[in-house]
Amino acid sequence: MNKQIHSKKDLKQYHDADTIDDLPDMVSDQAGLQDISQVSIPDAIKDPVTAQELTHRDFVSDVFWDKIPAFKGVDHATFMDVGFQNSHTATKVDHLEELLEGLVPGSFLDDVREGMRLAPMNIRLSPYVISLIDWDNPYDDPLRIQFLPVASTHKPDHPKLTLDSLEEQADSPTSGLVHRYFDKALFLPTDVCPVYCRFCTRSYAIGSDTDQVTKMSFKAVPNKWNQAFAYIASRPELEDIVISGGDTYMLKSHRIKQIGEILLAIPHVRRLRFATKGPAVMPMKIISQPDWTNAIIDIVNQGREMGKEVVVHTHFNHSNEITSITREAMNLLFKAGVTVRNQSVLIRGVNDTPEEMINLVRQLALMNVQPYYVYQHDMVQGTEEMRTALKDSLELERHVRGATAGFNTPTFVTDAPGGGGKRDIHSYDYYDEITGISVYRSPSVQDKMVYLYYDPIHLLPKEGQKLWEDSSKHEAMILDAIEKADVATKKWGV
Ligand SMILES: *Cc1c(COP(=O)(O)O)cnc(C)c1O
Ligand code: SF4
Repeated sequence: MNKQIHSKKDLKQYHDADTIDDLPDMVSDQAGLQDISQVSIPDAIKDPVTAQELTHRDFVSDVFWDKIPAFKGVDHATFMDVGFQNSHTATKVDHLEELLEGLVPGSFLDDVREGMRLAPMNIRLSPYVISLIDWDNPYDDPLRIQFLPVASTHKPDHPKLTLDSLEEQADSPTSGLVHRYFDKALFLPTDVCPVYCRFCTRSYAIGSDTDQVTKMSFKAVPNKWNQAFAYIASRPELEDIVISGGDTYMLKSHRIKQIGEILLAIPHVRRLRFATKGPAVMPMKIISQPDWTNAIIDIVNQGREMGKEVVVHTHFNHSNEITSITREAMNLLFKAGVTVRNQSVLIRGVNDTPEEMINLVRQLALMNVQPYYVYQHDMVQGTEEMRTALKDSLELERHVRGATAGFNTPTFVTDAPGGGGKRDIHSYDYYDEITGISVYRSPSVQDKMVYLYYDPIHLLPKEGQKLWEDSSKHEAMILDAIEKADVATKKWGV
């Protein structure tokens, strides 16, 4: 019964076919994998792949928390319980020390204590995170680097670093709202997170005060949310609202519904994004706390009914944050029709190699999480050793682009200090590898402004490091870079 294409006439019929049913059958009607197994394989034109190239398909599924003394013997159901995760979360080094019971040397913990004296962020480590850190080698561990400071790797801050590097305070019409760009705004209903990232852009406000920083409180407390909503409703250009903070994970389900329903009811608001690092540090919440998850799903569905898009934006930085629990959680959201996108921060020693970044991107894709941005590390106090030089980020991007589908390839951006918004890292008008100064423009935000980013001084060539040693030379170096950027601009006829 097989119809095969034998002649030009058959081919014409093939092209004219209106429906699949009209197509000539190429294989039997019962085509399936068993048929393929009979077919002789065409000669390979590529070398066989190595297991190394497919590691993104491996999801940790054992009792990985068993090696932490305090969690030894804890069964799967208990570990999946959010109450257990919260009640065993370490917010003090002493508590961490208790949980680890001698797993790390005291000298390491002293290093952490000293590191915390220099840091603008508190710590908050869930059992999930604690269990995924390699305590035999905590100095090189990608999760330790993100969430637990140590003094011994500390590098002095760049002289051009300011605390609120994005200057968000200046664009805040009311507490807990940032309206900087034309059609989008940032709503900040909370200032707490399920983890504290050392590199947080909002370290000036997130978490409680530290030895280093007295935080500005900028969250909108619930009785002030109405002011933020009233402002959004009064600005017809606002279509896109990012609900961040802080972190959506920390909002109760009725708060999520409240925020979602009020914002969706504003006619010109078309898109909501709920931002949360939660899936990277406590993925079980999505599975075992259905009231929270269902609140998100409910708002997504309400939005879809209205023709509006509601999505989740999350924040994975390294594949070690991902386990089979994560996969199950992301699958649950996917099946419920929730789009999840990912924003990573590029961190030296964490995800700055092509192997890791490609692995991460492929693993995210496997969980149907869409890689959206990779951020050049902001200039944040106390994190100088975590930043990369722009030239290394550019090279990394060249490796990542093309490694998988374009729609699963993140855009590498710099959120340049001064509020120019996210710029494609390659789009600088001028970049000097010696001084580490890069110059960007952002015409849709500010026509005549330039925005500068500075490579970490310790990564500059000796010659560049020398230039920064003399503070009387800084101004001239910067003006020189801006001037050279101007020449380039004119050359392009802008
Ligand atoms: C990042 C950001 C947004 C969202 O920007 P996208 O590029 O659309 O992801 C909106 N407002 C502020 C203030 C931001 O920092
Ligand atoms: S989860 Fe986000 S907002 Fe919270 S500390 Fe980390 S980067 Fe900052």
